[in-house]
Amino acid sequence: MTYELPVDRLFIAGAWRQGRGAPINSHFPADGTLNRVVHGASIEDVDLAIERAQTAVSDPAWRSLRPHERARFLYKIADGIAQTAERIAYVQSRDTGKTITETTALALSAAGTFRYMGAALETLEDALTPSRGDYLTFSVYEALGVTAGITPWNSPIASDAQKVAPALAAGNAILLKPASWSPLVCLELARVIEASGLPAGLFSVLPGSGSLVGERLVTDRAIRKVSFTGGTEVGRGIARKAAEKLMPVSLELGGKSPTIVFADADLDVAVAGVLFGVFSSTGQSCIAGSRLFVQRAIYDTFVSKLVAATQALRIGHSFDRTTQVAPLIHPDHRSDVEAHVRRALAEGAELLTGGERPQGATYEGGVYYRPTILAGVDNAAAICREEIFGPVLVVLPFDDEGDVIAQGNDNEYGLACGIYTADFAKAWRVARGIEAGTVWINTYKQFSISTPFGGVKDSGVGREKGREGIRAWMAQKSIYFDLSGKPHPWAR
Ligand code: NAD
Repeated sequence: MTYELPVDRLFIAGAWRQGRGAPINSHFPADGTLNRVVHGASIEDVDLAIERAQTAVSDPAWRSLRPHERARFLYKIADGIAQTAERIAYVQSRDTGKTITETTALALSAAGTFRYMGAALETLEDALTPSRGDYLTFSVYEALGVTAGITPWNSPIASDAQKVAPALAAGNAILLKPASWSPLVCLELARVIEASGLPAGLFSVLPGSGSLVGERLVTDRAIRKVSFTGGTEVGRGIARKAAEKLMPVSLELGGKSPTIVFADADLDVAVAGVLFGVFSSTGQSCIAGSRLFVQRAIYDTFVSKLVAATQALRIGHSFDRTTQVAPLIHPDHRSDVEAHVRRALAEGAELLTGGERPQGATYEGGVYYRPTILAGVDNAAAICREEIFGPVLVVLPFDDEGDVIAQGNDNEYGLACGIYTADFAKAWRVARGIEAGTVWINTYKQFSISTPFGGVKDSGVGREKGREGIRAWMAQKSIYFDLSGKPHPWAR
């Protein structure tokens, strides 16, 4: 199964145009071959997209659509994604190196996101608030106007959908800037959106560098909201610039999420959950369970089981359906991952497995790295504090609930947490004690569009998904409607 990759045209302001910005080389991480050279957006392209988006979003024909009418576009986009999921998955695997199994699931989840947001939109209610005078009071939600989504390379179609679907549902225009390492799959999303008949200008795709295209979107005064998913430092910079123009931002940032295995856990369930939590997506996941705490009584037994299971993982080509660990996105990213591991070893960490590139013909030219487990450091070590965004796990022992909650929270991030135990009450106490946006109990990395997602501390601000996810793209307006029919007494 192969498909034609998108050609060198960006979907800007309702038309396919050659970008006037710098060329972006997209490579296939499984073998290093060149996918496409895509000319990114220039500042002129961004300005054109903004101008057309302003016109489109204020067009009475769009503004006067009722929610159920606007929802029809979202359903059409959902159907378009689902009908071409195989093609979208192929392009995303070529773009990112992710396994075809995972990209297929991501494409279908993106379809689900549009469908859910369409359905949620149809059922959202404004409020008639309790009146405190001779008037009616309403609280209504309205579109913000022109908005932007800035996304990372690790799960583009899913993170794009999580921004574009609620933004359009809310009645906005949205300009999408994907990461430079994954410029292709968002063009597939544009193809589907164009086919849905969405009025031109409401959606544009602007690949290009963060410091140029991204920055313009953040600082342009016409943009009324930015939803950003990416690294914490970039997010912090965006928040600063947004503060200048008092623009709301949503920031989905990095993580160093603890996974906790208590002595009473089902060890097979825990081993499978830990492996999936940290090594699926080759660890390139914001929610990767990259800090593992194992209760001291089972530490040796559990760690040896885990190491054996890790060594049995199938590292392979993105299009091999048996592959569990695919290549990393880019050689530069692998170099970063390797540097983290080298530093940990220099600081005294013990290498339990991995720590090297796999050898053999299958791996030639590809950006492969073996799943790696480190131990023998305490929670203050750099390897326990910094996000690596690769297949690297650090294991630490703990004594009891209090100890593991303290260690788990002793980190700048607060994105997610996994807890494995047979004791429901203990799971509940730890879940409530941990500082994180999402906690999984006896499972990990399950996702539902109906359940809000986001982080605390350095992992971000704001929530995506869920019915409230649409409201995050709207402004609330209060309306007072006089019932007295009389002049105001003050003026008498
Ligand atoms: P990144 O922060 O380098 O880039 C993310 C996006 O921001 C890209 O499109 C990039 O071009 C753009 N960008 C860069 N500089 C910018 C600037 N100055 N102004 C505006 N935009 C700018 O992140 P990445 O390397 O693409 O992705 C990995 C990071 O994303 C990890 O830290 C990961 O944890 C995080 N992430 C978080 C979530 C979440 O939901 N919390 C999900 C996925 C990834």
